[in-house]
Amino acid sequence: MLWTTFLLFALAIVLLFSFSQNRVVRQTYKETIARELAKSGKEIQSELVLFEQAGGRDYGGFLISRTQKYDVRAFILKADGTLLFPNLDDLTPALSKDVDFAEKIVRLKESLRKADAETGTAVLYEDRSGEYVYGARLPSFGEEGEETYLYISRSLKISESILSGVRSRTVLLAVFVMILSFAVAGSISGMLVKPIAEMTEKAGALARGDFSVDFRGTDYGSEVTALADTLNYARDELSKTDRMQKELIANVSHDFKTPLTMIKAYASMIKEISGGNPEKREKHAQVIIDEADRLASLVNDVLDLSKISSGLDVLKLEDYDLSAYTLEVLEKFGYLADTQGYHFQTDIESELFTRADPAKIGQVLYNLIGNAVNYTGEDKTVRVALKKEGEKILFSVSDSGKGIKKEELASIWERYYRSADAHKRPVKGTGLGLSIVKTILERHRFRFGVESEVGEGSTFYVLFPLVGN
Ligand code: ADP
Repeated sequence: MLWTTFLLFALAIVLLFSFSQNRVVRQTYKETIARELAKSGKEIQSELVLFEQAGGRDYGGFLISRTQKYDVRAFILKADGTLLFPNLDDLTPALSKDVDFAEKIVRLKESLRKADAETGTAVLYEDRSGEYVYGARLPSFGEEGEETYLYISRSLKISESILSGVRSRTVLLAVFVMILSFAVAGSISGMLVKPIAEMTEKAGALARGDFSVDFRGTDYGSEVTALADTLNYARDELSKTDRMQKELIANVSHDFKTPLTMIKAYASMIKEISGGNPEKREKHAQVIIDEADRLASLVNDVLDLSKISSGLDVLKLEDYDLSAYTLEVLEKFGYLADTQGYHFQTDIESELFTRADPAKIGQVLYNLIGNAVNYTGEDKTVRVALKKEGEKILFSVSDSGKGIKKEELASIWERYYRSADAHKRPVKGTGLGLSIVKTILERHRFRFGVESEVGEGSTFYVLFPLVGN
């Protein structure tokens, strides 16, 4: 394909070149002839005057000698086209060829009239028969008062030797262009086609799950190297997602297993030991209920995420009191304050209305506050604020934990991402929380983000639109 294209391209160039070459040669030739004729015409004319002044009478001989010297045809004609000099008998075959002086003199006189030329002033024009003509009216040569004209012409026909020179140059060029186009096609194929074929093969391997492929080759050109780098980047991302997906399955399976083990253990305990003791039975049954709840919320998280991110779940937007709603969510964390010594410092401006999907935003707030609880520092303090800011409502939740490293800041929003240390947390975590937050807020087109200082803590924020109540 590449070779054919180049061959056609080369052929087109050669054709175009030979065509334009022909035109250029003809044009230049014509201009040269016109220039030369103008010059030699002028010279012959002034030589003729000198010849006459010197008393020369053999005008025929004079003209024939000029004809040979300047490679032109020179005549002196009468007004009716009769040839005055040289004698008709003296004309060489080259000179006498196709001589129709009657017609020629008409054209010459017409040109002189058009140019408004006085006696002695010359005109230069292209004749219909394909020759250039230099002509002028002369002071009388024949009988007294008779009009005479100097008529000098030169054929425009390009000599065969010039044309064959052009032709052989064109053939030479054709050969050169062909060789060049083959060389270019070869090197392009080496530079582009081969690496791309290689990359296609590697991409196939990648699609089959081989993350060890390297798209970079040894001697790729810079564009291909850039493509290879992009593909390598895609490979890294794919392998990361693949790894995370596997980790998620491991995490989720582990998280499913723990409550299930607990449920089984406590159920056995009730059956075998505590069945008869109402107090103990009550406690053990409560553990079973709590663990079942944990399982349920885990399953819900996984379902939520797949539902929201697949776009099947439509947003049910409504205007509602975000202040009241935030307090409601905070109440759910009340048990942590009561039983585990957490402090919630709240600064909630009342009656701030927004337009959003309340249930989904509830998930967002629950996840963000839950994370702050999970990751806050020794002082177990979490600050939650909701404030009016211009046309927006700014929700923020801050903790005093160890913060998030700069290089991790972008990844925490990714699905399946989970910090390396899975220490014990008061609120369940699946590594899906922030990914759910991100998906929900992006669907709402709300701005959100995090500011974090390692060792000081993090602040997650969301900007809600403010609507009149
Ligand atoms: P997880 O269930 O692990 O909390 P998330 O998606 O909610 O999952 O959070 C992803 C990761 O982001 C966490 O594992 C943690 O490393 C980091 N992260 C989230 N919130 C905080 C926070 N308030 N402080 C420090 N790190 C956080």
